[in-house]
Amino acid sequence: MKRKTSIATLFSMILIVMFSYLFSPAITHANGTDTYEVSSSTLNIRSAPSNESSIVGQFVKGNQLTTFKEQYGWVQTYYGGKEVWVAKHHLVPVSTSNVSSTTSEMKENISVTVAAESVMIRAGAGTNYKNTHSAYQGDEFDVISSQGDWYQVKLPNGETGWIASWLTTEVGGVVSESTASDSSNSESVTNAPEQQPASSGSLAGYTIVIDPGHGGKDPGSIGLGDVWEKDIVYSTSNHVVNQLKEAGANVITTRSGDYFVSLEERARISNDYQTDAFISIHYDSFPLLSVSGTTAYYAHKEDQPLAADIQSSIASSVELTNRGSMQANYKVLRDTTAPSVLLELGFISNQYDVNIVQTDDYQRRVATAITNGLIQYFK
Ligand SMILES: [Zn+2]
Repeated sequence: MKRKTSIATLFSMILIVMFSYLFSPAITHANGTDTYEVSSSTLNIRSAPSNESSIVGQFVKGNQLTTFKEQYGWVQTYYGGKEVWVAKHHLVPVSTSNVSSTTSEMKENISVTVAAESVMIRAGAGTNYKNTHSAYQGDEFDVISSQGDWYQVKLPNGETGWIASWLTTEVGGVVSESTASDSSNSESVTNAPEQQPASSGSLAGYTIVIDPGHGGKDPGSIGLGDVWEKDIVYSTSNHVVNQLKEAGANVITTRSGDYFVSLEERARISNDYQTDAFISIHYDSFPLLSVSGTTAYYAHKEDQPLAADIQSSIASSVELTNRGSMQANYKVLRDTTAPSVLLELGFISNQYDVNIVQTDDYQRRVATAITNGLIQYFK
């Protein structure tokens, strides 16, 4: 009896697997990712690819988003760190034919010079790929192709490798704008790779602790459009970690996922190492919705120069209001023995700030700014 049941169960399981395979909705995985711009005045962000699913937020006209999957006329993207869906017919592709001709032109013509003191050349377009070669400030390479923020370059030995675009500067100026027919779209795309100011030095030999605030049961602030602080703090911190590593720093993080870490534990992690700087990443909120901007906090007076260097680097790289550096008695700063700062990278309770701070572009620019601020501080 028992045996018969288990065979029947097994058989029905096989059937379920076969049917779900045969009738599963066709999910087209984009080749890498696609970038779109919102064309309607507002666009609902939904939890699933259906008009019946719950609305979790809203994009506004001009917002750009990167999509990862397409299904039944819906595309999947990320919002506040979560997987969400939007209707594709309210989007215009940023990578249309006129733009891709610009891109291919760019690939054929540009060369880049290494701007940082030393840079790793990798086997693929990302910091998770193996380091195959090293390059040094002033080295020049021909660009073969690009993917996201990475350039595939030709190496002197005939091989190819990938280099982080934000650590290079372009030789021979910008791409001619006349090659793109739609100026409104082309501008943002042709300018995209140049928006990353190159890191201006190396952090080799320095140990930096990055402390992504909140996590798990502690969401931090909940902003407009249901943006959760812990989510954007986490994605921003990942950009910071990647860029610090690219600049040669040894990076330690106090949380590497969505889980709770106490303030005592965060400080203890930092104090366990020969930490040169501790940087806690946060986003702000305030009941008065008009309050906006970025702030760097320090607890110990001797950490004021660290806060000032990072804050002035951020202020010169992003469009948000500069609220300066201020002293505040935060426990996580008080308890860390290394020079420490807590960065509030914009108000998610402010509509202007929250639209900007969620973007990959903002988070990457902040990451570059923090890296350059640290380089300045250690000089
Ligand atoms: Zn916070």
